[in-house]
Amino acid sequence: MFDKILIANRGEIACRVIRTARRMGIKTVAVYSDADSGALHVELADEAYRIGAAPAQESYLSIERIIAAAERSGAQAVHPGYGFLSENAAFAEAVEAAGLTFIGPQPSAIRAMGLKDAAKALMEQSGVPVVPGYHGDNQDPDFLAARAAEIGYPVLIKARAGGGGKGMRRVDDAQDFAASLDAARREALAAFGDDAVLIEKYLLRPRHIEVQVFGDRHGNAVHLFERDCSLQRRHQKVIEEAPAPGMTAEMRRVMGEAAVRAARAIDYRGAGTVEFIADVSDGLWPDRFFFMEMNTRLQVEHPVTEAISGVDLVEWQLRVAAGEPLPKKQAELAISGWAFEARVYAEDAAKGFLPATGKIERLAFPQSGVRVDAGIRSGDRISTHYDPLIAKLIVHSPNRQAALTGLCHALEATRIEGTVSNLAFLANLTRQDDFAGGHPDTGLIDRNLEMLTAAAEPSGTAIALAAVLSLEARQAGSDPWETLGHWQLWSEMQRIVTLHHAGDVFSLRVVARGFDMFAVHNGQRVIPVRIVRRDGGGVQVEADGRQVFVEVSRHGGHLSLRFDGAVHVFDLDDPLSAAASEGAGSDRLIAPMPGFVKIVRAVAGSTVSKGDPLVVMEAMKMELTLAAPRDGVVENVAVSEGQQVSEGALLVSLKAAEE
Ligand code: ADP
Ligand code: ADP
Ligand code: MG
Repeated sequence: MFDKILIANRGEIACRVIRTARRMGIKTVAVYSDADSGALHVELADEAYRIGAAPAQESYLSIERIIAAAERSGAQAVHPGYGFLSENAAFAEAVEAAGLTFIGPQPSAIRAMGLKDAAKALMEQSGVPVVPGYHGDNQDPDFLAARAAEIGYPVLIKARAGGGGKGMRRVDDAQDFAASLDAARREALAAFGDDAVLIEKYLLRPRHIEVQVFGDRHGNAVHLFERDCSLQRRHQKVIEEAPAPGMTAEMRRVMGEAAVRAARAIDYRGAGTVEFIADVSDGLWPDRFFFMEMNTRLQVEHPVTEAISGVDLVEWQLRVAAGEPLPKKQAELAISGWAFEARVYAEDAAKGFLPATGKIERLAFPQSGVRVDAGIRSGDRISTHYDPLIAKLIVHSPNRQAALTGLCHALEATRIEGTVSNLAFLANLTRQDDFAGGHPDTGLIDRNLEMLTAAAEPSGTAIALAAVLSLEARQAGSDPWETLGHWQLWSEMQRIVTLHHAGDVFSLRVVARGFDMFAVHNGQRVIPVRIVRRDGGGVQVEADGRQVFVEVSRHGGHLSLRFDGAVHVFDLDDPLSAAASEGAGSDRLIAPMPGFVKIVRAVAGSTVSKGDPLVVMEAMKMELTLAAPRDGVVENVAVSEGQQVSEGALLVSLKAAEE
């Protein structure tokens, strides 16, 4: 076994690999960019090396610098994690050329599965069912259009070099094919430097079911059962589970065998995932699943497999890379219980899952009943440079119902302050009927978006409490309760409080009735509020004759109250006056988040119509197309391509069109 390994990654996966290495008595070397010099993975490792500036191109994607760090540290092997260089055959080669061991498959296996078209052709030859479609070399648009017509609409155009849900276009109608092909090609070229595509039949009610496989250097290959990853937004997974609901023993055997066949076809070593798509328009059937792609690395959602199989997959990776045979044979592997994983992201589900940045003021997880794989801690920043993943919560129980309840409780008990997160969205998802009933499919989130992203409606009591508690929040700097306490000296002190909540404006009159006693008038009735006790994170209050504990936090102009199982976020300042310039009908196009200006379409002096794309920004691995807020003439273009902009920066200004 190795004495020392380098982890060529960051965030939760770097921390996760370090944990197993440490348990096995292996020393760990971390690498970090300037954005990560104080990061958790750096602190957890035995030693760490700076490899460059914050942009991944200059650090986590620099083969040269990572190998130099490995050589300096005396590490014998390199674990690539997921993302970054993990599926880069040239990196695996460079690691081996430096006399180190790559903890992953051999470069030829990475290459064989690197392009979706070649992988599908290889799988077809090996007797693995593939999604019906065209995956040949001919890229002539008319030829491809003819193939699409043969396959039958709807079809999916996919970049052969694609990944992370990028470079895909669904086409429903022959007349849209040419334009969609152009768009998919442009996106693929920009994202992957390769514009070749394949055409697939678009399945209408699909489930994403994948099989974990493992091979060694001695010709052994096994599977560790399946995971269902059908809950997706933007073709990216959000909640995963193992095993897959509704699987029969027969279906599991057939899929497992197909996955092992895929692995054997490329003499696979190490951990890999064979992704299948199943057509469940008429239930799960052994003859209705198809190979989509193989990911030649450890997957984000690997912990659910660890939970049900009892295998530490990182330990297996290390053993296989060190030349040991697989620790178990197929017959020795069994499923125990049910597991879920939820990916907690800094993103605003209600705003189209817009990634967020900022400092995590407080991060607290439940103490028991859940495995937390996190890469950050309280006080850390979510930067624009990398994925906004905060943590993964993994629960394992004897059955699906208990595991799902556990996941819901774990999400509700997690506290994130300082940035928006998808916690409430994920908790809503655990309560969604089809999912709870064991019928996920890849369209579930989109179909139920409104229910999943709705902000809890605040009750009259909640609004009244917010009004009282906002008085504290408004008095930044001084001790506001002291100020309020003084109110008792006067007969009836009162204030008018204005609160904004999800587009609604509430105006209330708060009257101080004595020490910590208030009467809140909401225009219809009077709600008596008394503060019973204060405590670090909140207050015990009596409102309308009922006592509850309210967790209170405040960041920027937001006041967040949590009680009765719901979180209500109120804006103390008018969000519209601040954002008025960004809204529809405005004259100014503003950057909604910090990022990088990728394409500037706006030209000064040109006439534009409302909705015309003016600027494309890239932020946190996501492309945002910013459109003209109204009809008009471009007055000024304030940015240029390649420029880094901060949140709120002016991008383009418009003036009225001349009649
Ligand atoms: P990536 O490399 O971006 O992960 P995949 O080929 O694995 O691309 O597809 C990602 C997701 O897109 C799948 O999990 C599924 O939700 C959807 N998808 C892919 N192929 C099809 C298809 N033929 N029909 C319907 N949905 C599909
Ligand atoms: P409850 O929800 O406890 O029955 P109320 O009858 O006082 O409380 O309020 C009902 C609804 O009226 C609230 O959920 C809220 O939508 C609205 N409301 C409460 N206070 C105000 C206010 N000051 N301005 C505008 N709407 C309000
Ligand atoms: Mg995939």
